[in-house]
Amino acid sequence: DVDMSQCRPGRVLSVHRSGFIVQADGGERYECVVRNVVRAIASDQRTAVVAGDQVMFQPTVNEQGVIERVEPRTSTLSREVRGQEHVLVANVDQVLIVASSADPPLKPSLLDRYLVSAAVGDIAPLICINKADLSNLAALQPIIGLYSQLGYKVVTTSTVSGYGIPRLRELLRDRETVLTGQSGVGKSSLLNALQPGLKLRTGEVSGDSRKGKHTTTSANLLELNFGGWVVDTPGVRQFGLWDTFPEEVEGYFVEFHPFVRNCRYPDCTHTHETDCGIKQAVARGLISECRFESYQRITAGDLV
Ligand code: GDP
Repeated sequence: DVDMSQCRPGRVLSVHRSGFIVQADGGERYECVVRNVVRAIASDQRTAVVAGDQVMFQPTVNEQGVIERVEPRTSTLSREVRGQEHVLVANVDQVLIVASSADPPLKPSLLDRYLVSAAVGDIAPLICINKADLSNLAALQPIIGLYSQLGYKVVTTSTVSGYGIPRLRELLRDRETVLTGQSGVGKSSLLNALQPGLKLRTGEVSGDSRKGKHTTTSANLLELNFGGWVVDTPGVRQFGLWDTFPEEVEGYFVEFHPFVRNCRYPDCTHTHETDCGIKQAVARGLISECRFESYQRITAGDLV
């Protein structure tokens, strides 16, 4: 049995081939291994401990330690690896869905896919429309209005002018946020605008002895100097919909709910059926055509 009084609480920042970087509540970093019994009780050995996990660990020597316990996870984000669900990061509070107003152009159907992914993972979404300097804000207003009306928080930013960055900081403060969005929309630039040098501080331990072990094989927690964490997921910018059935998708389009009862068929898919409450609502302008199109594309398995 482990003497828990010798243990300290900490947060797993990243997973390396050689071990786990854990940050103690005081801010010091340790390179840890995992006690075998912790692995033994996990349902999936490979992801018994992941970035974001809250752990109890026992410091040994030279900023090293042993993870003795993993606290229950409040949420997990997974990705699919060779047909299997693989936990990538734990305890995420929200997902920042980043799009750009231009270059690449804003695609509402892609935003909707990310919103459904967030809903499937039961993680609160925030929408960030970056590169505001490249377009007329009045032109973006209809789309900002649409998503705001649906109840989503939308922030417009420019990493060039700094527009919206203070508001984004407020939205991220004291939360654990994962960034997602198409390549080229400005995710790295946003991290840098939020806090210059943020990405460079990845995975180092407090002492000098083990500097240079910067290659991570997993998600990375980056600590914000104004409070909170952002999760950088190298090589993984999208979280999957692989386990979503078409009939579940309707549930994630919140504005559809009041009209479903007008469908003649209880199992209506809102595609080919007659007397469909959703299609009637679209025709009357009560549901946006663009959202209905997204719904059709997602249920058809169209990968945008
Ligand atoms: P990522 O792939 O999402 O991480 O995108 P990057 O941060 O690498 O940015 C992609 C390109 O967009 C780079 O050339 C950035 O300089 C540029 N960029 C990022 N943010 C902005 C912005 O707010 N306005 C403009 N005009 N360009 C931006």
